[in-house]
Amino acid sequence: KVALSSIAKSFGATKVLDGIDLDIADGEFLTLVGPSGCGKSTLIRIIAGLEHQDAGSLAIGGSRVDHLRPHERRVAMVFQSYALYPHMSVGANIALPLTMARLRLWQRLPLLRLLSAERRAVMRGIESDVAAVAAQLQLGHLLDRKPAQLSGGQRQRVALGRAMVRNPDVFLMDEPLSNLDAKLRVHMRTELAELHKRLGTTFIYVTHDQVEAMTMSDRVAMMDSGAILQLGTPSQLYEKPASLKVAQFIGSPA
Ligand code: ATP
Ligand code: MG
Repeated sequence: KVALSSIAKSFGATKVLDGIDLDIADGEFLTLVGPSGCGKSTLIRIIAGLEHQDAGSLAIGGSRVDHLRPHERRVAMVFQSYALYPHMSVGANIALPLTMARLRLWQRLPLLRLLSAERRAVMRGIESDVAAVAAQLQLGHLLDRKPAQLSGGQRQRVALGRAMVRNPDVFLMDEPLSNLDAKLRVHMRTELAELHKRLGTTFIYVTHDQVEAMTMSDRVAMMDSGAILQLGTPSQLYEKPASLKVAQFIGSPA
């Protein structure tokens, strides 16, 4: 599980997270919602290791990960902007976490890099991992294209593939569908839900879209001003909103 305990974060004088406690079960689909600026991205970036909390602790699978760098945590993040490299092929974009991991190993053990058998084995391993992920996401025929030659939905899948290839314990997704047009967004919603079911991995998901939150999630955490206003299943939030703010977001009869 992912265990957040009293996580606090300020940027300068602004308190952005005010002591967040949150336990997320293995395999759970947990969605963070709340008004713009309430701290959703900051929280997810802290779990990813892209920001560091000022106070509080963070454990994944029973071990503290606070001191680990992003690539050392068993998490993978999918960004709203996809963050693809335009000059690299789809295949190279998906392979990137694996190539980076290998480069880091070679930096530590420079002699290894000189062995051509090692280099061939690595290339073959990476290629087959990328092919397996690409097949799952119906990207197999697009591996040689550049991101600019893809549709929005295909780019979104490449970003997902780059997260999947690391085989993470936790997927972190910050509004991954918000750049897609309405029709594609509905389609990708179904695909993501199926992917979650198939992988059985923990998903921590940020969205502005209440339909996404209500239909995809096991539980929803409604945030406001750096705190969690209410945490519960979609039907709990709908039937018993803790406040008017929650009711307004969920659209339940207040
Ligand atoms: P949105 O729904 O608009 O994406 P959010 O809930 O993801 O909002 P955050 O991005 O977590 O909100 O930002 C929370 C607050 O922290 C905002 O007031 C924001 O301006 C501030 N903030 C975020 N990152 C930084 C930073 N690097 N430096 C200073 N302030 C920051
Ligand atoms: Mg955000």
